[in-house]
Amino acid sequence: MSMQIVIVGSGIAGITCAEELLKLRPDMEVRVLTQETRGYYSRPLLSNGFTRDNIESTIILRSFETLAKSGIKLEAGVNVTAVKRDARAVVYQRSGDECVLSYNKLVLAQGSAALIPPPFRSQEALFNVLNSLSDLILLRRRRTALREAGDTPRWAIIGGGLIGCEVASDLVKAGDRVTLFHALPRLMERQLVEEDSATLLQVLQDSGVKVLLNCAVQGIQKKDDCLAVLADGETYPDFHTIIVACGFKPRITLAQSAGITTQRGIVVDDFLTTSDTSICAAGDAAESANGKLYAYVTPVRSQGLWLAQYLAGRTSTPWQPPFFKPKAKVHGFNAAHPYLF
Ligand SMILES: Cc1cc2nc3c(=O)[nH]c(=O)nc-3n(C[C@H](O)[C@H](O)[C@H](O)COP(=O)(O)OP(=O)(O)OC[C@H]3O[C@@H](n4cnc5c(N)ncnc54)[C@H](O)[C@@H]3O)c2cc1C
Repeated sequence: MSMQIVIVGSGIAGITCAEELLKLRPDMEVRVLTQETRGYYSRPLLSNGFTRDNIESTIILRSFETLAKSGIKLEAGVNVTAVKRDARAVVYQRSGDECVLSYNKLVLAQGSAALIPPPFRSQEALFNVLNSLSDLILLRRRRTALREAGDTPRWAIIGGGLIGCEVASDLVKAGDRVTLFHALPRLMERQLVEEDSATLLQVLQDSGVKVLLNCAVQGIQKKDDCLAVLADGETYPDFHTIIVACGFKPRITLAQSAGITTQRGIVVDDFLTTSDTSICAAGDAAESANGKLYAYVTPVRSQGLWLAQYLAGRTSTPWQPPFFKPKAKVHGFNAAHPYLF
């Protein structure tokens, strides 16, 4: 029987690994299980998804049919719920049925969810996130409905990190009204030096975004037909939609429940192997041996390619993070200094 590789997740880590593996070892059985239903898409394009037409189709890099034709056995719209390490099998839900799939090697490439800070966790019905294509489609529909009713959509974005700034910039460029709340004194403080944060602030303000710095949001409330943001003792009323953009959270629950070592992410060694030698992890879900999370497209793709080489038996040297230059997709903004990582 041919070697069976099971990959959980159809993001850039999972699909890059699957495609490369099939090129290197067509004799292997490569199976991908994913919650997605719309195809393999470019996640970075989500934050510029309001100024682009036909994003629902142009964002798709490969349809699931195309991937199937290339030989990947992919099951879409399924949810992997457990890893039975003793039996080397994963358990997953497909349309209400419980299914089991055996593996010789398992790759956990489940990516990350939006991080929701404690003040908002009990208020899920009142805010949105922008983390997947389904999230974008929902937000675009809401925006279209408001515009068709003759309203200019009013947005509160909570979080002035990379994604918050990108989304604020794109929405205002699309013609909407945007207020950006950031708890700290400068924008994108994790990625930019002070001078570039100041330039970014100017660019966003010039484009029409109302930026509130040092403004920690304590909660959100429904107020008549609109939403209000409570921050620093003040109430900011009248938003149609609130987007929480406070960072990302690697999806570790599956690994954790299976007794695999996790910290912030699923802990891997220099060979992207977890504490179980039959299980690897890559992408946003994985935490490197040096404690870093390489949650950017270039290193994630590099992990997917390297892992394919490794699983195909074509390399025995450790994965090395590639040189990469992150860049915020804020309209009209270019940093003068390299990004911090
Ligand atoms: C809005 C936004 C903008 C970004 N912009 C940039 C940028 O400009 N440049 C850059 O370098 N990076 C950017 N990033 C980060 C980059 O997109 C990620 O680092 C990258 O997509 C991670 O890929 P991944 O394969 O690890 O995970 P993901 O793309 O998150 O894929 C994980 C997949 O696993 C599936 N999955 C999860 N759990 C299960 C389960 N239990 N069962 C079945 N399937 C499951 C999910 O449905 C998903 O398909 C951005 C991210 C976001 C959200």
